Amino acid sequence: MIDEIEKIPNSLVMRDELNFKYYVSGTWKKSSSGNTIIIKNPFNDETVGTVQACSIEEADQVITVAKENLECWGDKTQRERADILMKAAKLMKEWANSLGYVMMKEIGKPLKSAISEITRTSELFEATAEAGLQQEGEAIYGDAFKGFSKDKMSMTYRVPLGVILCIGPFNYPFNLTGSKIAPALMAGNTVVVKPPSQGAISPLFFGLILEKAGVPPGVFNIITGKGSEIGDYLVQHPLINMVSFTGSSKTGQHLASVVGMKPLLLELGGKDAAIVLNDANLELTADAIVSGAFSYSGQRCTAVKRVLPMPGIADKLIELVKKKTMNLSIGDPEKNATIGPLISSEQCDFVQGLIDDALKKDGTLLCGNKREGNIMWPTLIDNVTTDMRIAWEEPFGPILPFIRTHSAEEAIEISNKSEYGLQGMIFTENIDLAFNIAQELEVGTVQINGKSERGPDHFPFLGTKSSGLGTQGIKYSIEAMTRPKVIALNLSEKGKLVKLCKYD
Ligand code: NAP
Repeated sequence: MIDEIEKIPNSLVMRDELNFKYYVSGTWKKSSSGNTIIIKNPFNDETVGTVQACSIEEADQVITVAKENLECWGDKTQRERADILMKAAKLMKEWANSLGYVMMKEIGKPLKSAISEITRTSELFEATAEAGLQQEGEAIYGDAFKGFSKDKMSMTYRVPLGVILCIGPFNYPFNLTGSKIAPALMAGNTVVVKPPSQGAISPLFFGLILEKAGVPPGVFNIITGKGSEIGDYLVQHPLINMVSFTGSSKTGQHLASVVGMKPLLLELGGKDAAIVLNDANLELTADAIVSGAFSYSGQRCTAVKRVLPMPGIADKLIELVKKKTMNLSIGDPEKNATIGPLISSEQCDFVQGLIDDALKKDGTLLCGNKREGNIMWPTLIDNVTTDMRIAWEEPFGPILPFIRTHSAEEAIEISNKSEYGLQGMIFTENIDLAFNIAQELEVGTVQINGKSERGPDHFPFLGTKSSGLGTQGIKYSIEAMTRPKVIALNLSEKGKLVKLCKYD
C-alpha cells in the first residue's frame, strides 16, 4: 500500500506513514484530541491506515475557515475556476492507479472498478467545468403582469449558496464525494467534506489534488471523524449554507429532522425492481440483472434488488440468471473478483438475517447462502412473497429475490408499495407498453431494457419517497448549489424617449 501511495508526489505532507491527517486552510493537521479511527481492509482485516477523529472544536474551525474564504474564491472568474477543475481532472487521471489501489484496500472494491471510479470522477470534473461555463440568467419585463409596464424589469442570475457541506457514503467514497465537490466549487462555493469513515483515505487525496490544481488555501477543506460523533454538529452549524448528503435512508431521515432551515440534498437508499414482461429478450435481461445485482457484491444504491417476472418467462429467466450467477468470480478484490467482501461483518449478519427470514417463510434457495469471513456468496431466492423482509428491505449485499407476478398491473403495485423510489426497470420488446408502465412507477428514473444505474453523470439523478430529496447530475447539482439573485430595475420618467406612435 505504502509503495502505491509513494507514487503520488508530495503525499508525505498528508501523513506519517499510513496515519493520515485532516486538511484545513491548506495545511494537514493531526487532531488535538489525539484520537484516530483505524481503517481495516474488509477482505482480510489488515489495518490499512488511520484517519483523525476530529473534535467538535476542530469542526468549528474548519467551517469558519471555509466561510472566511468565500470572497476569495468568489473573486476568481468562472473561467479560472473551470481551469482549476480541469487541472484537478488531469491529476486524477495521472494518479488513478494508485488512488484506485488505496480505495480497493479500504473498501474491498474490485481493483479495476476502483480505478475506473477515479477516472469517472476526473471526467465528471471536466464535464462540470464545461457545464459551469454555460450558466445563464434571464431578464423579464414587468408588462406581462397586469398593472405593470416595461419600466420595471428583472435581471436574474445565479449566485453561490456559501459553504457547502459534502457527506458521502462508503461505497463510492471518491466519486460520490467528487460529484458534490466539483459543482460546489465551480459554482463559487467553498467546501467542507466529511468523508465516510470506512473509505476516508481515498477522498483525503482531494486535498492534494485540488491544492496542486490551484484551489487557494481554505476554499476546500476536509474533516474526518465518526458521523455519529461530529455529524449532527456539522450539519447544524449556522455557517453551513447547504448540506449535500448521500448515504442510507436512515441517516438521511435523521438529517432531515435536525438540519433546520437550509437547503438539503439527499440521495438515499433504494429497492430497485426489474419488471420482466413475457416478450423480453431474456439473454439481455439476465445479463443486466446479474451485473446490476452483483457488481461490487450488491453494495450499490442502484443495484437490482428485486425481480418481478411474468409467468410466461419466469422459469426460463430464473434458470438463465442462476447459470450466469454461478459463473461469477468470488474472492480477492485485488484479483478483480466480482463478489468480494461486504464492508463489515455486521453487514454480513444483516444480509444473513434477510436470507434466514425468507427461507423460514418457504422461499426457495437457488444458490448461495454461504459465508466465509466477510464474503457472502451470491444468493438467489425464488418464490419470494410479500410477507418476507427481502421483498422490501435494502440488503446492500449479494442477494436477489424473485417475486413472481401475474400481470404488469400487479408488478406495478408491488414496485410502488416499496418505501423507496430510486429507479425501476422494465424489460420488454413492447416499447408502447413499457412507456405506459414507466409512467406509473413512483421512482426517480425508469430504465427500459437496461439495468438501474446512476450514470452517465450529466443525467438527472434523484429518488422519491425514502430514496431522497432534490436532484443531482452535473447541471442539476450546480443549480442545487446556487440560488437565483434578482435585481429589479425601475426606470423613471426622466430618461424617457419621446416617440410618436404612427397610429396616433
Ligand atoms: P450511512 O451509514 O448513512 O453513512 C453515510 C455518511 O453519513 C457517512 O459519511 C457517515 O459517516 C455519515 N453520517 C453518519 N451519521 C451522521 C450524522 N448524524 N450526521 C452527518 N453524517 C452522518 O450510509 P453508508 O452505509 O455509508 O452507505 C450506504 C447507503 O448509502 C445505502 O443505503 C445506499 O443505498 C446509499 N447510497 C445512496 C446513493 C444514492 O445516490 N442514492 C449512492 C450510494 C449509496 P461515518 O462513516 O463516519 O459513519
